[in-house]
Amino acid sequence: GATIGILGGGQLGRMLSVAASRLGYRTHIFEPGAEPPAGHVAHAVTTASYEDKAALTRFAEAVDVVTYEFENIPTEALDTLQALRPIRPGREALRVSQDRMTEKEFLSGLGLRTAPFAAVDTEADLNNALELIGAPAILKTRRFGYDGKGQARILSKDDAADAFDAMNGAPAILEGFVEFSHEVSVIAARGVDGEVACFDPGENVHRDGILRTTTVPARLTPAHRQDAILLAGRILNALDYVGVMGVELFVCPDGLVVNEIAPRVHNSGHWTQNGCSIDQFEQHIRAVAGLPLGDGARHSDVQMENLIGDDMDRVPELLREADTALHLYGKAEAKAGRKMGHVNRIVRGG
Ligand code: ATP
Ligand code: MG
Ligand code: MG
Repeated sequence: GATIGILGGGQLGRMLSVAASRLGYRTHIFEPGAEPPAGHVAHAVTTASYEDKAALTRFAEAVDVVTYEFENIPTEALDTLQALRPIRPGREALRVSQDRMTEKEFLSGLGLRTAPFAAVDTEADLNNALELIGAPAILKTRRFGYDGKGQARILSKDDAADAFDAMNGAPAILEGFVEFSHEVSVIAARGVDGEVACFDPGENVHRDGILRTTTVPARLTPAHRQDAILLAGRILNALDYVGVMGVELFVCPDGLVVNEIAPRVHNSGHWTQNGCSIDQFEQHIRAVAGLPLGDGARHSDVQMENLIGDDMDRVPELLREADTALHLYGKAEAKAGRKMGHVNRIVRGG
């Protein structure tokens, strides 16, 4: 059978490996860190840095296709891999989503609404951007931010200097604050032949910058639900995308605003494991392996809750809860803010 190479050995790589295994594939994880959660379930693991060209070459030669669970893969590593095997989703999706500026330019270029934005390299840039965009606003590092890290809220001009210092000299982007009523995301998939399938949008609640819960169905008017699915399809087609993508949206009274896109399976799509016959992980494996996409129709109402840090203390109770599917990532240490697992609660009679 074929082997799927996965860059990144976290929980997403782990759940991708399980799905691949179920379809008869082997998986090979590439991960610099020790004891990756995906290592327990993958068929092979390469522990090496992304600077190690020889290790990358051996990894690529051992697999049939390369995919990834995170978007911050260094360009040189991608060059090495791409010379040997297809990378799916492709380079364009990575280029666009690795930097919040290129991401917003791409999205607004497609005619989609985003928060007003401006690049900020210097404190003078920030003051100019604040003149244009106004407060409240959020200053974010252009690259490497996740779980709300690398962000500073600016409520008034007086916060500008502190916000600028919080970026530690990294290139940043100022975003106007979007007055949304709630947040939703669309998990969308596109196959090698261009076929697109979207999961039902989920409604996301964050706490301290980290996703807490995703609930399906989301509160959306039929028109907004349709918009969400159509705009996700446009993004995938524009990138000639192959695989699963997460599209985060703000719901405003007058329409949807795109927050960000993630060229991979997404935490807000974990509900699909217990709400659909084909979940986001299998859908991604099908896409990157060149198989037809599966039926992602939702058969149940679900609420996904992340288990973060000492939420793990609740596992004994969760094990006894009815209609509750527990998914644990096998991480050794339950550090504060660390995603340790999640539960999917099926809502009966929903
Ligand atoms: P993720 O873990 O989803 O990758 P991230 O670190 O990339 O998160 P964002 O998604 O950009 O960060 O922002 C985190 C959260 O902060 C959003 O889900 C939203 O609640 C809030 N937020 C971000 N940008 C804005 C904005 N322009 N206006 C209002 N709220 C925002
Ligand atoms: Mg993000
Ligand atoms: Mg986000």
